[in-house]
Amino acid sequence: MSLKVLFVASEVAPYAKVGGLADVAGALPKALTALGHDVRLMMPRYSSIDEQRYPLSVAVDTFPVELDSAREFALLKETRLEGVPVYLLENGRYFQRENVYGYQDDLERFTFFCRAVPEAVRHLGWRPDVVHTNDWHTALVAAWLGTSLRADPFFGPTASVVTIHNLAFQGWFDEYFRARFNVVPRGLADQTVDGVSLYNALALAILHADVVNTVSETYAQEILTPAYGEHLDPLLRRRQDHLFGIINGIDYDFFNPATDRFIAQRYDASSLEKKSANKQALQQETGLAVDPRVPLIGVIGRLTDQKGFDLVAQMITPVLEERPFQLVLLGTGDERYHRLFRELAERHRDQAAVYLKFDAALAQRIYAGADMFLMPSRFEPCGLGQLISLRYGTLPVVRATGGLADTVQDYDPEAQTGTGFVFRAYNPFALTIAFARALEAYHQPATWRGLMARAMARDVSWSASARRYQELYEKAIALHR
Ligand code: ADP
Repeated sequence: MSLKVLFVASEVAPYAKVGGLADVAGALPKALTALGHDVRLMMPRYSSIDEQRYPLSVAVDTFPVELDSAREFALLKETRLEGVPVYLLENGRYFQRENVYGYQDDLERFTFFCRAVPEAVRHLGWRPDVVHTNDWHTALVAAWLGTSLRADPFFGPTASVVTIHNLAFQGWFDEYFRARFNVVPRGLADQTVDGVSLYNALALAILHADVVNTVSETYAQEILTPAYGEHLDPLLRRRQDHLFGIINGIDYDFFNPATDRFIAQRYDASSLEKKSANKQALQQETGLAVDPRVPLIGVIGRLTDQKGFDLVAQMITPVLEERPFQLVLLGTGDERYHRLFRELAERHRDQAAVYLKFDAALAQRIYAGADMFLMPSRFEPCGLGQLISLRYGTLPVVRATGGLADTVQDYDPEAQTGTGFVFRAYNPFALTIAFARALEAYHQPATWRGLMARAMARDVSWSASARRYQELYEKAIALHR
């Protein structure tokens, strides 16, 4: 059965991107369309979305949106993302701004967007079977579909899904905000459920959406516990029967070592030997010794505690002093990590190159040129770095958490299986052991080639996950009835 799905998100690549959500929003609707579904996207029109670059036409002329006592107006424009209709909601007061987030009134901006979405859909006269919302910014649409809009003749049959990409951000509000914007529909007077405050957009969606999901199966289990639940775990446990996990894919057109225009030498699984030209180019570019035999470890990511950089900080110096390997690190984040890695690069100039910036092209050269990729996250809803690494035959060294646990299989020397090196306990010793195992395997060329071949053979595209989203939508529709 072909489904009508409205995919609602605050960021969609290539129009506006801050993080991984934009990649998902830009890729999943295309993959679902390829399965024969009628999927359409809706997002705010930020002023950074350039009409010169993306041809926009008017889909719905100016229409009113009731927000608080003041009446706002919005306009719906339309463009196409490889055939997928993308609706961009314009409003001068809230979205005539360069950035996606970071304004004092973000809560009000996205509450307005959530109010405007059902109105825009009504004007389109296209009733979706499912509305798929993402993170707190759009979660209120799911919350309202499950409550006040249930009795609405147009939206009554529409099911709702909320996907959690980052549980740490929840859209908290206070009593004044709740009353002013009528966030919580009449009849729902509760201020807490299971001890969790409902002055929180994501909490309301977790409670009222037909289906809640997150971006890996393991993370869907982990967030049921206080250690990972960000204080919402009691609500998630309450909705456990409606909670699912589906791993993200990566865009195979963009992340493809056989066609990547950012790298020195293109290669694929049948020409693995060519990958070494990328290593050589990376060693030259970073000023490290050009030597094919020295293992080169890549690290790319936000320099925060979430990504396990405190573990790296604790183990890296003694390991660098004991073992011959090279490290190339690219990232931005907390100042203390900037300082730490800057000092490390100064102390070990011949072994470590550190780039404290955001550079998408350099990232591609690291994925292609490194032998291994280090990602020891404390928690990881899905993680893209390890997926890109697998695709590029760069073997991930990861902690078994969230999406990392679901996508990297630990190397087993007996069975000659596995696609990387996995450790469990969150401490520097466990990381050091995994790292030592990786270095040891690296010095056995046949073993390493086998690992690379298995890594590159793994399907990390969107096609399997898009099918699972289709099943999730069918579940949401059944549960809605
Ligand atoms: P998160 O979304 O939590 O930051 P992910 O692993 O899901 O982590 O996605 C991060 C993405 O951003 C990856 O594609 C990674 O390559 C990219 N990235 C992170 N930091 C940088 C950087 N400094 N320069 C270039 N790309 C980066």
